[in-house]
Amino acid sequence: MVNTIPAPQPLLKLPNDQEASGRTLGAEEIAFVTEAILSGTLTSTKGTFVKALEQQFAQLLGVKYAYACSSGTAAIHTAIAALDPEPGDEIITTSITDMGALTPILYQGAIPRFVDVDPVTWNVTAATIERCLNERTKAIIVTHLFGNPCNMTEIMALADAHHIPVIEDTAQGFLAKHHGQYAGTFGKVGCFSLQQGKHITTGEGGIVTTNDEAIARRLFLYINKAFGYGDPHPDHYFIALNYRMSELQGAVAAAQLSKLEGIVERRYSSAAKLTEKLQGIPGLETPVHAPLDTHVYWKYCLRVDARVLTDGAVGLAKKLKEEKGIFSAPRYIQKPAFQCEIFEKQRTFGNSRFPFTLATPEALDYSRDRFPGTFEGLEKVLVLPWNEAYTDEHIDYIADAIHQAVAHIAR
Ligand SMILES: *Cc1c(COP(=O)(O)O)cnc(C)c1O
Repeated sequence: MVNTIPAPQPLLKLPNDQEASGRTLGAEEIAFVTEAILSGTLTSTKGTFVKALEQQFAQLLGVKYAYACSSGTAAIHTAIAALDPEPGDEIITTSITDMGALTPILYQGAIPRFVDVDPVTWNVTAATIERCLNERTKAIIVTHLFGNPCNMTEIMALADAHHIPVIEDTAQGFLAKHHGQYAGTFGKVGCFSLQQGKHITTGEGGIVTTNDEAIARRLFLYINKAFGYGDPHPDHYFIALNYRMSELQGAVAAAQLSKLEGIVERRYSSAAKLTEKLQGIPGLETPVHAPLDTHVYWKYCLRVDARVLTDGAVGLAKKLKEEKGIFSAPRYIQKPAFQCEIFEKQRTFGNSRFPFTLATPEALDYSRDRFPGTFEGLEKVLVLPWNEAYTDEHIDYIADAIHQAVAHIAR
């Protein structure tokens, strides 16, 4: 008798951005780090690598100024500090983001004013922002979530009409384009992260960009304890931190930067292949981006309909893990940012609750019915890790796994 039970297929291990398999770190980075170490100069105030990184990044994006800093969180903090809000001013931001994009608002004494997102793109829109604009609005932070650019045409038109500066959180959106223009170059300041899991990495690191000379000056100073290096009579001009990137990180980042365009292209083309293979599955929507935009696929996000597929995104994630060893993250950050303890319990400085004490009730109204897109978006999202090292074999494996899992949970 022929044994008809098929042999179990071996699980394929996917490249992973937390280790060498999914990172582009190699000989170039080693050569630059070695050069940095042998130079004996590891501070960016005296060295050459961070300066080179800044110049090359500005050139790549086509902006006048770029300054490296110690993290994406530091980049956001620096951007906010450069705009110098009054205590109690509101800064509009998204309810689906990294906490590193939110705590800097509070540290600068301002109030995060959460706005809803489009449940299909998970991005803020001009419409969701407009509902929350008021006389206290000092700035708007937009986040190009998962590498898909926000509609910057509409957002800039709204912001410009109200003379409100825009900060672009581009931590997940290196080289993403809206209508052919790079994300991070529309607003007053662009913020980038070089953390381990981003498109390119130095372990921890960040970059801020601008075209505005006065803002550039404040960005530089904020990263440097507001010390006026090079001035005739330098002083510490205002309250600021040391957010400098070291030369060791700068060396790695400079090498990584030369690989960025290739990384983004590979992520884009492999994502297109997966999208092709997942068409027409009931209950499953593949990522969408505007026709004239370039999504850079920090992650590959599916929308899963629990009315069609049992337990929705959670059910699909469970099957992918059990059957094929594929990790994915339903709900991304689990809950809207405003439901974290920082906001729910207003845990800030001692028992002061500052700066929440300065907020209007309106700004702190986190009622569910104000955020329908956020709740729907988080309910449906299944975040698949994405990587430039994925081959056609990996894409086929992921696509087959999804088809199989979906067949098992279809209602
Ligand atoms: C990663 C990230 C940050 C914070 O960057 P760190 O380098 O981790 O401090 C901020 N915003 C978004 C959208 C991010 O993805």
